[in-house]
Amino acid sequence: MFTKITSTFSAEWADSKLKISHVILFVAAVCISLIGISIWGAFNSLAYHLHDKEIEMSNLSKALSSSIAATLTQADIVILGVQARANIEGTGAEELKKLEEILKAQQERLPQIYGFSIYDEQGRWLLSSNDRYRSSINNSDRDYFIYHRDHESSAPFLGPPIRSRATNEWVITLSRRINHADGSFAGMAIATVYLKYFLSLYENIDVGKNGIINLASSTGHIIVRKPFKEAEIGTDISTGEVFALLVPGVTAGTATIRSFIDNVVRVISFRRVEGYPLVVIAAFEKEEILADWRRESLSSFVISSVLLLTLGLLGYRLIKIMSRQIQAQKELQHSERAYIAANKALGQLALEDGLTGLSNRRKFDLFIDSEISKAKRKPDDLALILIDIDLFKKYNDHYGHVQGDECLKSVSTIIKRNITREGDLAARYGGEEFAIVLSNTDYVGAFIIAEKIRTEVERSAIQHCESPAKVVTISIGISALSGSTADTPEHLIDIADKALYVAKSNGRNRTVISNNLSSALA
Ligand code: GH3
Ligand code: MG
Ligand code: MG
Repeated sequence: MFTKITSTFSAEWADSKLKISHVILFVAAVCISLIGISIWGAFNSLAYHLHDKEIEMSNLSKALSSSIAATLTQADIVILGVQARANIEGTGAEELKKLEEILKAQQERLPQIYGFSIYDEQGRWLLSSNDRYRSSINNSDRDYFIYHRDHESSAPFLGPPIRSRATNEWVITLSRRINHADGSFAGMAIATVYLKYFLSLYENIDVGKNGIINLASSTGHIIVRKPFKEAEIGTDISTGEVFALLVPGVTAGTATIRSFIDNVVRVISFRRVEGYPLVVIAAFEKEEILADWRRESLSSFVISSVLLLTLGLLGYRLIKIMSRQIQAQKELQHSERAYIAANKALGQLALEDGLTGLSNRRKFDLFIDSEISKAKRKPDDLALILIDIDLFKKYNDHYGHVQGDECLKSVSTIIKRNITREGDLAARYGGEEFAIVLSNTDYVGAFIIAEKIRTEVERSAIQHCESPAKVVTISIGISALSGSTADTPEHLIDIADKALYVAKSNGRNRTVISNNLSSALA
C-alpha cells in the first residue's frame, strides 16, 4: 500500500511539474511572439517611412521639373517670336523699336525674367527689355554667343549660370540664333532668367533640416541648390552617384545615397526636366527620417515593454501559485506517508511486547485462534509450548527488578533464536511465562525444540544463587492437537499448563508432554 501511494505521488508530482513547464513554455512563447511582432513592426515601419519619403521626394521632383520646364518654356516662347520676327524683318532701328516695346510688356508679365536682349553678330547689345543696357558691354565671349555663331541650328541654347555684366546678378540664359536673309549669323535673341527665381520656387517646400533641392545641368554641374551657397554654382557633380544612375534613357529614379559634397546620407529622387538639358534632384536626410521613425517606435516599444512586463509578472505569479500548490500537495502527501508509517508502527507496537520484542499476549491469542481453525480445516498438527522461569520471584527478590528484566530479555533472545521458521510464533504470555505456537508440528517436534531452548537457557549460566542449580532454569509444558481431545485454544493452553505444573512439581528445569505426562530431564 505504501509503495502504491509513493508511485501515485510520483506520478502526480511529475504531472504537476509538467503543468508548470507548460505554463512556462506558454508564457515564454507569448513573450517571444510579442518581441518578434514588435521587432517586425519596427522594421516594417522603417521600410514604410523610407518608402514614403521616396514617394514624397519623387512627387516633389516631378512638380519642380514641370514648374522649371514651364518657366523656361514661357521665356522660350518669347525669344522664339523674336527669332522669327528678326529673321524675316531684320534688326533695323525701327524693328528693334517695335520689339523693345513688345519685350518690355512681356517682361512685366514674367517675374522670372531678368531681361530679354538682342545681340548683333559682333556680340554687341542691340536691344534690352530692361534699363540696364550698356552699349559698352560686349558679350561675344559668352558661351551662348560662341555656340550660336558656330552652330546654324535655330533650336534654343541653355547656357550655364553666369553673372550679369550690368548688375552682377546670377542668371541663366536661354537663347536663339538670328540669321541674315542669306542665312548667315546675324546675332541672337536671349532671355536671361533669375537664378533666385528658382530659389523662390523652392522656398515653401519643406525638405527637413538637412534636405536639398538641386537643379543641375545634364552634364552634372550645379545650377542652383537649396540651401543656396554661391560657391557651389557650377560645381561638377557628374562623378556622383546620382549621375551614375542617370544613364541615357533613364528619366527619373529614387535611391539612398551619400552626398559627396557634404557627406550626408539622403533619400533622393531625381528627374530630367522635359525639353531641357536639366535635372532636378530632391533629397531628404535619412537620419531625419530615422529620427521620426525612432520617435514612433519608442512609443510602441514602451507599450510592448509594459505588455511584456505585465505578461511576465502574471506568468511569474501563476507559476509561483502553482509551485506553492504543488509544494502544499507534496507536504500533504508527505504527512500522509508519515501518518501511515506511524499507524503501521502503532499497529506493530499493539502486537509486540515492549520489553522482550516478542509478540504480546494479544497477538498470541489472535494467532492461536486462527492456527487452530486452519489446523482443523486441513487437518494439520499444531503444538503449544508453555515456558515458565523457575523461582523467578526469588531471582527478583535477590537481584532486583531491573536485573529480572535483563534475565527476561536473555531468555527471550534464546527463544527467538530457536523459533525462526515461518508460521511459528513466540510470545510473552505474561510475567515470566512464554508461549510458542508451532504449526505442522507434533509432540516429538515440539519436545525437541523445547529441550533445545531449555538446555540453552541452562548453559547460558545466568547466575541464580537462590536456585538449586545455581543458574537460571526454565520449566516447559507441551500440548498438541493430535493425540489429545483439545480443539479450542483454551483447552490446548490448559493441557500445556497442566504439563507445566507437572514439570514444576517434579523438580523444575524439565520438559513435560501432556499426553502421557512423561518428562524429559535435561
Ligand atoms: P516457580 O518456579 O514456581 O515458577 O516460582 P516463581 O517464583 O517463578 O513463581 P511465581 O509465578 O510466583 O513468580 C513469578 C514472579 O515473576 C513474580 C514477579 O515478581 C516476577 N515477574 C513477573 N513479571 C515480571 C517482569 O516483567 N519483570 C520482572 N523483573 N519480574 C517479573
Ligand atoms: Mg509463573
Ligand atoms: Mg516461575
